[in-house]
Amino acid sequence: MSINLGIPAVRTRGEGNLFAHEKFPTAAKRELKNQQLRANLRHATHTIRDKRINVVSELPDWEDLRESGSRIKENVMARLPELLEQFEAAFTARGGVIHWANDATEANAIVTSLIRATGETEVVKVKSMATQEIGLNEHLESLGINAIETDLAELIVQLGHDRPSHILVPAIHKNRTQIRDIFRAEIPNASPDLTDNPKELAATARAYLREKFLNAKVAISGANFGIAETGTLGVVESEGNGRMCLTLPETLITVMGIEKILPRWEDLGVFMQLLPRSSTGERMNPYSSLWTGKNGQDGPQNIHLVMLDNGRTRALADKNGRSALHCIRCSACMNVCPVYERTGGHAYGSTYPGPIGAILSPLLTGITAEENSSLPYASSLCGACFDACPVKINIPEILIDLRAQDVEAQHSVRKAPTEMDVLMKGASWALSSGTRLKFLEKGLPAGRLLAGKDQRISWLPGIAGGWTSSRDIPAPPQSSFRDQWAQREKFQKSQGPQLFQQSQASPKPTGKQGE
Ligand code: SF4
Repeated sequence: MSINLGIPAVRTRGEGNLFAHEKFPTAAKRELKNQQLRANLRHATHTIRDKRINVVSELPDWEDLRESGSRIKENVMARLPELLEQFEAAFTARGGVIHWANDATEANAIVTSLIRATGETEVVKVKSMATQEIGLNEHLESLGINAIETDLAELIVQLGHDRPSHILVPAIHKNRTQIRDIFRAEIPNASPDLTDNPKELAATARAYLREKFLNAKVAISGANFGIAETGTLGVVESEGNGRMCLTLPETLITVMGIEKILPRWEDLGVFMQLLPRSSTGERMNPYSSLWTGKNGQDGPQNIHLVMLDNGRTRALADKNGRSALHCIRCSACMNVCPVYERTGGHAYGSTYPGPIGAILSPLLTGITAEENSSLPYASSLCGACFDACPVKINIPEILIDLRAQDVEAQHSVRKAPTEMDVLMKGASWALSSGTRLKFLEKGLPAGRLLAGKDQRISWLPGIAGGWTSSRDIPAPPQSSFRDQWAQREKFQKSQGPQLFQQSQASPKPTGKQGE
């Protein structure tokens, strides 16, 4: 029997909520003005970051675990078709039904038809990045089906008619007072005297959700892992809402990216150590739910799994970028990223913000998707994301590769050279010849004149304006380095060999800066 793996000969371009609606610099500039957002982000990311460092430093074999996680994922990517077949056989043997979706449109259509078959118009949901990626909630809403998020932060975002801004803490941009206002306005029967006390807020959400859990006939989930050898799916979460969704309704529909496969049951041991420490800074996850088909007596009796490509085979074909598919969505890279800390998640446009979003979105959609071509530049390349990543994804290296792809893509569509091309050609011409550089250095006095009295250049035209828009350039020195060096040599020669030897034996620099 031949099995349709749903992997097309022509690689599908990812669609859905993977696209920015504006270039990153434009969105970032706007978000930077939001002081409340920046204060919330700073507090939250630093708290989680410190917790992570504490629990990671407890493990003497942390680096070995990272290495294991990385190698398991490499192995999965190398054997993905075979592992998917193995998973499908095991999953269906235990009563589950698999559906293959090339893209967001197909996945949404499959989920819709499964819900319609039950006759229900309201479903409960466990937080899931894959369903956010395909825009499932919006799709269902447009067809009159109400999908209720049951993770507290996701519920806040949904009731606030907002967008998540962090993978792990989607409402990181909201403070308690804002949450209280949302609950008062949107939750039926919420007390008008509700305060911003966290216990009161949680109790209000709990009462609202409890009723939804008990009445739901259909639940939708994502999955953190799918085990090929057993056909098991796994969801890890912190509030118990996932456990409710996965056990109470009659029908369970899971949407999972094809890259979430793990070969063996024992591989879970590695990821169950890496994930909670890297995401919430906890030693173990509060609720870890694993299910293998149906058992005929308890739990959902209709078990469906939608296996989603949506650009993943496209990313897999990128030999430098494919390791982005190793991501376990822990969000550690976001919490250490200086760019994310200042701009927040909305500036990235896509479902996937932060350093992983800056590589994953363009890899899934292709760098030629104009809205995503600025994302690989949303990084200082400091490398903090690489150090924090539990599966050792070399994000800075992929960012540089995507930047190169972007430049090449622009060249192929534009006939005329860009400003950057002209600038680089000019720099190459000047710097490749001492005579030409010397000639250009004659312009230094003009630069000093431009700097004016305060000896700072605050504005430059064209592409160079990108530099002066956020920082000044100090006035050029009186004489060039080459001139100073020549003068030094001349002076030493005039003083004879004794002084030259003294200068060679002079103390090394102290390493202090700014002196
Ligand atoms: S790239 Fe690494 S650190 Fe970032 S979310 Fe994915 S697994 Fe976590």
